[in-house]
Amino acid sequence: MLDARTRRWAHAGLVLALLGAAAAAAAADAPLRVIVFGAHPDDCDIDAGGTAALWAARGHQVKFVAVTNGDAGHQSEGGGALARRRRAEAQEAGRRFGIAEYEVLDNHDGELEPTLAVRQQVIRRIRQWNADVVIAPRPNDYHPDHRYTGVLVQDTAYMVMVPNLCPDTPPLRRNPVFLYAQDGFQRPNPFRPDVAVAIDSVIEKKILALDAHVSQVYEWLPWVEGVLDSVPKEPAARLAWLREQRSGRPIADDIRAALRKWYGTRADAVKDAEAFEVCEYGRQPTEADLRRLFPFFD
Ligand SMILES: [Zn+2]
Repeated sequence: MLDARTRRWAHAGLVLALLGAAAAAAAADAPLRVIVFGAHPDDCDIDAGGTAALWAARGHQVKFVAVTNGDAGHQSEGGGALARRRRAEAQEAGRRFGIAEYEVLDNHDGELEPTLAVRQQVIRRIRQWNADVVIAPRPNDYHPDHRYTGVLVQDTAYMVMVPNLCPDTPPLRRNPVFLYAQDGFQRPNPFRPDVAVAIDSVIEKKILALDAHVSQVYEWLPWVEGVLDSVPKEPAARLAWLREQRSGRPIADDIRAALRKWYGTRADAVKDAEAFEVCEYGRQPTEADLRRLFPFFD
């Protein structure tokens, strides 16, 4: 038999438990906050654009950040004029994806270094976004800007919680889950697809968003590859050419296996996918956490 005082405490405990459960349910329903970093204004789009469009369509908050302004990425343009052109292209791409924000930081393209100053820019962006999920390239890549973007973001995976760093921007109380975007580099270790997302339902949106990066997809990248002459001039024809380049490519066996893990037998029909690897420096998600963060598998 409980005395009155014990009963009161038991009652208070029950109320707290109910409030806690309600808060947890509210948190589970709250929009996810995702921030994606790329070295250049188009890298986030290529790495995670389809998944971002899926999140955005479900009301989740996605922000893309280009760590450089892209002012070196062209064969006949450059400097401030090119940076302005690419910032406008990024804004339009963000609009076509339906994401909340696309920010282009004013660091020079081709000259990015993993300095303390840029790390602080990244820490502030992750904190201001109150991110649940942070996506970035791995620090293994042919392009030093991509590589150092990977290093810079990886280097924040604990520092975002340390109050004495960047004290002008309140620290996160909960470390985000940090994810690497897919790549094909083999050394020192290949990419491991912990999560694979079918993007068939938004592949056209991704192609249309990439189409906004005119200076890149129709000018600079074809020039680098020596195929500039094969790009059609007429907008509808060049969009069809882009679609051919950027969708329906064969899916590697390891990515297909990851799709099967998350989608079961439906994975075999998937034509386009994006995949992510969990970084071991941020919060370590359980399988249930990943299903909550990627609410696409049912
Ligand atoms: Zn790039």
